[in-house]
Amino acid sequence: MTIPFLITATLAGAISQGLASPSQPPPTAAAALAGELALVAGVDEARAQRHVRELVKLGPRMGGTSSGERAAAWLERAFSAAGLSVEVFEDSPRWCHGDESWKVTLISGPEQEVLTGAWPWGFSPASSGEAPLTLELTSATPQALLATRPPARQRRGAASDTSAPTPAVVLVDGDTTLDGAYPVLQHLRAGGDNPYPVFGISRPTGQRLRAALASGAQVALRWSLETTIKRAAPRTVVASIPAREPAADAPQAAAERRGHILFCAHGDSDAGGPGADDNASGEAVLLEIASSWAAAIRAGKAPAPAREVRFAVWGSEIHSSGDYRKRCEKNGQTILAVINYDQAGYGSGADQLNLEPDDLAANVPLIRACLAVLADYRGHAGFPARWATNKSLGGTDSYVFSSSRSFRRGARPALTLFTSAWGRPETHPRTAGMPGHSWEDNDRVTVDYDNYYHSAGDTPENTTDREPWNMGWCARVGLLGAQRWLETLP
Ligand SMILES: [Zn+2]
Repeated sequence: MTIPFLITATLAGAISQGLASPSQPPPTAAAALAGELALVAGVDEARAQRHVRELVKLGPRMGGTSSGERAAAWLERAFSAAGLSVEVFEDSPRWCHGDESWKVTLISGPEQEVLTGAWPWGFSPASSGEAPLTLELTSATPQALLATRPPARQRRGAASDTSAPTPAVVLVDGDTTLDGAYPVLQHLRAGGDNPYPVFGISRPTGQRLRAALASGAQVALRWSLETTIKRAAPRTVVASIPAREPAADAPQAAAERRGHILFCAHGDSDAGGPGADDNASGEAVLLEIASSWAAAIRAGKAPAPAREVRFAVWGSEIHSSGDYRKRCEKNGQTILAVINYDQAGYGSGADQLNLEPDDLAANVPLIRACLAVLADYRGHAGFPARWATNKSLGGTDSYVFSSSRSFRRGARPALTLFTSAWGRPETHPRTAGMPGHSWEDNDRVTVDYDNYYHSAGDTPENTTDREPWNMGWCARVGLLGAQRWLETLP
């Protein structure tokens, strides 16, 4: 591969020889690195794991729901306990859904079987009943349909076929994780007027039911779903570490004009599932950065940052980050840069950290600061051995900022750091002038996937508990990359 950082590569070699070496590296550089290590000394993977488990226990944490409100209160306490000042914002109202409880039971003669793996799709209406299970709707009496996907009238953006018979409930077995073990959760049309609920099930369960129905077995489905669907305001939690300048007695407005760097992560589980990797992992990373940085400053081991550092956990992905950006613009607060975390706790394939997007010129200085950190600490405990930068793929909160007029005009960077994206592996062309993979010179860049992406299987046991080091990498690299970048500001 191309080695873009000759100086930092030298330092990385020096680290492996020990920081106290009298001749290598130069003492000032060694001292600088030692100071940096004090900044990240408080990052704790075991605590990040605990935080993920606690967040997942609160429910899917969807914005505007009781679970989302419990998560916001939990985060407010957690950032406060880390010594930061915290504010909770009510974002603009939107359609929200929260699935409170459900039960799906198969009935075949005297036998009953609860489908424990069934999970409702978003905006499924509250409903209960019992009906024969069928592969095809044949009568006007209520029927439970087993299908690879819901009828068109239920799907977002699909044309409505009002002449088709309406099922009472639908089981969907055609949208699962790559291994088939868990249903992938989609959203139905946003709003309270969807006519029937949709439950995702695993591929093997679907195959078993199809075989039973094909053999002429009489199977009935009993279901109940308690859900809340309403227009409501998601809650976004914002915590802050103040800048070392201007002096404490300077007007607050002056500090706000000087701007802040923003670390962020969406706090909802997005698809409505458990959301351990997507995105309790990102929330846990923010807490590790905040608590480690604040603790180092409190202990006198690091100066306060050159600019204010903020941490935002969005009540609703994309929606809340857009509200925050507009709120800052309205109040004359400058967002200097954004480092977003989305799926920072697991990867099904390669063990690597990705930085995205590297094809926006405004991002290059901040990406290069992070790459220098990665090169300097390669082989050091708590840092990844492999990393990659990839082109714009979209779909995360950093794009809410980088696509805005203020970011484009000001050439301000907005990155997303992650260890997996989407539900299947992908490769993309390497961006010209950027290193791509750290471990091979290639014109393609891999983006790792999470088998449990947006599924009922995104639990701590399946994801973040299995690879907790991902969260440690993400916290240390983001913190040190931001710190180095902040020190370059005039
Ligand atoms: Zn996400």
